[in-house]
Amino acid sequence: MKNQRIGIPRGLLYYSYAESWKLFFRELGCEVIISPETHADILREGIRHATGDFCLPVKTFLGHVALLKDSVDLLFIPRYVSVERESFMCPKMIGLPDVVRACFTNLPGIVDPVFHVKQFGDKAIHEFTKPIAKAISLPHPDVYTLFKKNMNSGAEISGEQHRLSERLLSEGGTILSSHRKMNIGIVGRPYLLFDRHLSKNLFNCIRDLNANPIFIKPAEPDIREAMAVIPKWVYWDMGKEVVTSAHQFFKDDRIDGVINVCSSTCGPDSFTGDLIRKRLNQRNKPYMALSIDEHASDVGIQTRIEAFIDMISKVTA
Ligand code: SF4
Repeated sequence: MKNQRIGIPRGLLYYSYAESWKLFFRELGCEVIISPETHADILREGIRHATGDFCLPVKTFLGHVALLKDSVDLLFIPRYVSVERESFMCPKMIGLPDVVRACFTNLPGIVDPVFHVKQFGDKAIHEFTKPIAKAISLPHPDVYTLFKKNMNSGAEISGEQHRLSERLLSEGGTILSSHRKMNIGIVGRPYLLFDRHLSKNLFNCIRDLNANPIFIKPAEPDIREAMAVIPKWVYWDMGKEVVTSAHQFFKDDRIDGVINVCSSTCGPDSFTGDLIRKRLNQRNKPYMALSIDEHASDVGIQTRIEAFIDMISKVTA
């Protein structure tokens, strides 16, 4: 059945797969409706609907569901369990469709295909696309072929990352073209860093303090290299990228300090944060964990960033 309105909440894995999901559903003939960028009312709604002690990104996701649910035929809330063989997504991500069902009444249909490389191996995409084909009444082989074709289109969020970060380290190996005097490595999960409301416009705040915010999305070989030298194996899919970025900043003398942006109630981040802190301490590289919670004011975060940059400038003066 074509022309269905598919709602995609702008939260969590949207910040990793947005473009591929949108292209995929549009090419299947669906109308794709994305919730707007997070604002205070969306977060308030998410907090109101949350029935458990969820982290900030999950509460925000619920706010996006609340905004979309009455204006679409189907909600796309995939269950990503593992995107590679030796690690898992966070349990809250794995249980996301169940969380949404538990927090709302009067939901439209939920399309919640399972992406589980650890279980299905090379057949993961095949299994993932089966329930989608069923929900929109199209032949599975067509849906499978289209998903495979679009699965690496992450252009929109990459563009966003390029805009917000001063310069990627991989671009010609230089980051020092700017007039600003200090380079601050930023690590964190994309759904926290690139949601401007949640991260309190962190990138701009750092620029306003005359420093360069640097974000890198590590490539697969970098992740393997980092996992080989870091004393503990990281079992969380996105946690590996966070730890690898910190490891690259650890090695790079042009990076003056590192800020780890995390959610205050995130279990995996408490584990990766400790690994990152210990790694950076080996070189006395200044490090700050910036824990984000539901407080609406930006001032607390700005004060902490200001103090961090001030401390680095005094140490390096
Ligand atoms: S990894 Fe942390 S922030 Fe992300 S969904 Fe899980 S608990 Fe929340």
